[in-house]
Amino acid sequence: DALIDQIAAGEVVERPASVAKELIENALDAGARRIEIATAAGGKSLLRVTDDGSGIAADELPLAVRRHCTSKLAGGLDAIETLGFRGEALPSIGSVARLTVKSRAAGAAEAFEIAVDGGRVSGPRPAALSRGTVVEVRDLFHAVPARLKFLKSDRAEGAAITEIVRRLAIAFPAVRFELAGPDRTQTVFEAVDGRDSLRRIEAVVGKDFGANAIAIAAEREGVQLKGFAGLPTFHRGNALAQYVYVNGRPVRDRLLLSALRGAYADVMARDRHPVAVLFLTLDPALVDVNVHPAKADVRFRDPGLVRGLIVGAIRQAFTAAGL
Ligand code: ADP
Ligand code: MG
Repeated sequence: DALIDQIAAGEVVERPASVAKELIENALDAGARRIEIATAAGGKSLLRVTDDGSGIAADELPLAVRRHCTSKLAGGLDAIETLGFRGEALPSIGSVARLTVKSRAAGAAEAFEIAVDGGRVSGPRPAALSRGTVVEVRDLFHAVPARLKFLKSDRAEGAAITEIVRRLAIAFPAVRFELAGPDRTQTVFEAVDGRDSLRRIEAVVGKDFGANAIAIAAEREGVQLKGFAGLPTFHRGNALAQYVYVNGRPVRDRLLLSALRGAYADVMARDRHPVAVLFLTLDPALVDVNVHPAKADVRFRDPGLVRGLIVGAIRQAFTAAGL
């Protein structure tokens, strides 16, 4: 019911950026090739995600906004290939904001729209849309004023949304991302050949990154590490330029970030931050990405192995390069 959804919303929806993450992940799960994100007032007054993915059939729309209705768990928790699987995001958002979902399922003759405001559902009713899905979230937390005051400035909330888009853009180079709105300058990441992900990485972290980074490729006991480690001279003033992915999902995991720091300990001053993009691939049974709905923490069966792999691979690459 509405109260339970509001409580769940406390877990899933902390701020506009967490809404953006959920909506963009849904678009990616739907196979979108183009995703547009529009924001106003840092996502507080408006957050709209438009995609060209598979869409939602009219009779599925009421399920999509209902708690624990997910279309994505067919293979069980150990076989999750989608970014979402809890069926909590849309009902949670609908309980604390004005939510509309407009969609036209692939092959359907018509589009439909459903609205949720403070947990109350209306529709579905016919709507105009040529393909895909448009999810619009207005007035986030208007139904829970106590949470509104924990939000930062429009500028800070808007920047957090940008960061979410940047993280996902690196993971999905073949998808075009466009981020726009009255509260920001437009950012576009054009689709690039999936095999040429350095081009997308450079679009996100800076076009001089490739020339200032060493390619990393290592494997230990079935855990694979790939990516790019910025040279010690190519540092940043904050830790945001560390992009780490586990089985294709962006994570901000403490173990992984601390391993990265450890790898640079001998070649970079403590107050500097390396730029790095790392992709870890391992058997899904050896990692739990299900720890918390919104936090990007993961739990490894063998944390020591993962840490050793990261530290070892980066140090070895630096040594081989004579650093
Ligand atoms: P989850 O992603 O965990 O399944 P959500 O609450 O995020 O749960 O979404 C509920 C359901 O709504 C999804 O399982 C999916 O079937 C559908 N859905 C949501 N957004 C989209 C979208 N952009 N395109 C297609 N289907 C969507
Ligand atoms: Mg989802």
